[in-house]
Order: sequence, then structure tokens, then C-alpha cells
Amino acid sequence: CGIVGYIGSNNALPYLMEGLSKLEYRGYDSAGIAINLDQEIKVFKSKGRLKNLEDTLDKSMNTVLGIGHTRWATHGAPSDVNAHPHTNENSTIAVIHNGIIENYMEIKEWLINDKKVCFKSETDTEVIAHLIDYYYEGDLLEAVNRAIEKMEGAYAIGVIAKGEPDRLVAVRKDSPLIVGLGAGENFIASDIPALLKYTRDILLIENDEVVDLRKDQVTIYNVFGQKIEREIYKVTWDM
Ligand code: GLU
Repeated sequence: CGIVGYIGSNNALPYLMEGLSKLEYRGYDSAGIAINLDQEIKVFKSKGRLKNLEDTLDKSMNTVLGIGHTRWATHGAPSDVNAHPHTNENSTIAVIHNGIIENYMEIKEWLINDKKVCFKSETDTEVIAHLIDYYYEGDLLEAVNRAIEKMEGAYAIGVIAKGEPDRLVAVRKDSPLIVGLGAGENFIASDIPALLKYTRDILLIENDEVVDLRKDQVTIYNVFGQKIEREIYKVTWDM
């Protein structure tokens, strides 16, 4: 039940794995990451401990964009398939999600019956990936904004798109989400401990806010789509 994300100039993988390990205290039954590698979205996920996920990773991979998740199953049993990230059919969108999409059945039926979408998992989360794909026309922020209009429930999500290797979009609604600011790199996480090794400059994201992250810029929008200025919170304590 934790999320992490990295966009920057260094390899995303060490932070994704370190961040997830620092969020282990929140409890989880499976874990996974999605990265943008050689113009493709690659997903690695596994039921059980982080070690299982780590065993699926090729240590030579190097990428500047990725998202990671530890899952506490609410919809669909703990399994490799139900682990996050979830993607649309041709893996152009990848999503991590903490929380519950209350109206996922309604969205799922609409996507299956009207849009002939094929689902792979039993999770509520998978509808988010297909919904964002449905609205995606080359601008991830816009597609996420349109998708969340349809989504009811609690969620912190992190999203990447194959066609935008320089962008990470995140949303907070009744589930924790923070942003860490680095030099030429930025982070998302569920909680501060995940970030402490990397930065002490934090933006506390509030409910109904959408965040557009680039490696050298973070823009926060409120529910009306207006840009919000947030003061940097400096972490002065250690774990
Ligand atoms: N509801 C989602 C699932 O069951 C997310 C659970 C979580 O917060 O880890 O996959």
C-alpha cells in the first residue's frame, strides 16, 4: 500500500526499490514497477516480498522514468497479474494506485461493452489505465484530468505514458501523496521515509490536486485546473 515514482537524469531503479522498501511498514502482498525503457513501457511485478520483484529485474537496466507500487489487495486476490502497475491493452499507459475506485464496475462494463476493451486483472485499478488510454490524445495531463472526472472513491495514483518519456502525472484524492524535489530530478511517494535518502525538500499534496512532474519542474493544479503555489516543506528529522 505504497507508491513511488521518479523522473530525472539518473537511473530511476535504485530509488524505486529503496523507496518501496521504506514503505514496507505500510504492509503489502505484492509489488511492481513500470519504467520507460527504449521507448517502451516495461512492467515487472510479483506476488510476495520485494525480493521476488527484485529477482525479476535485469540489473543492467537504466531508465530516467519509472513508478513503483506495493499492493494491499482490496479487489482481486494477491497475485502476479493483479499486482500493480496496470496497463492498457498495448501498454502505452501504466498506472499505480493506492485506494479503491468505488464505481469501477460501472466503468469496466462501459469499457467492455461499448469500447470492446479486454481486461487482464480482477482489480479496480485496471479501469484507470484503460480510461486514461481512452482519453489520451498525446497529452497525459489532459487524459488524466478527463479520467478522474469519471472516477469515484479514494486514490493516489501515478501515471506514465509511453509517448511522453519526460513526464510523470500524479493525483491525490483521500490517499496520501507527496512530492520530493531534487536537482534535475523529482520524486513522488506515499510518505516521507521513502524520500529521505534523496531529498528533504517536500511538497505536501492536498486532496483533489493533480501534479505534473518533469525532471526540472513540478506543477500542481487544484480541482479547477488552476496552478497552485505550494511552499516547500523542509524535513529536519531523521529516521
Ligand atoms: N484497490 C487496489 C487493488 O486492490 C489498490 C490497493 C492498494 O491500495 O494497494 O489493487
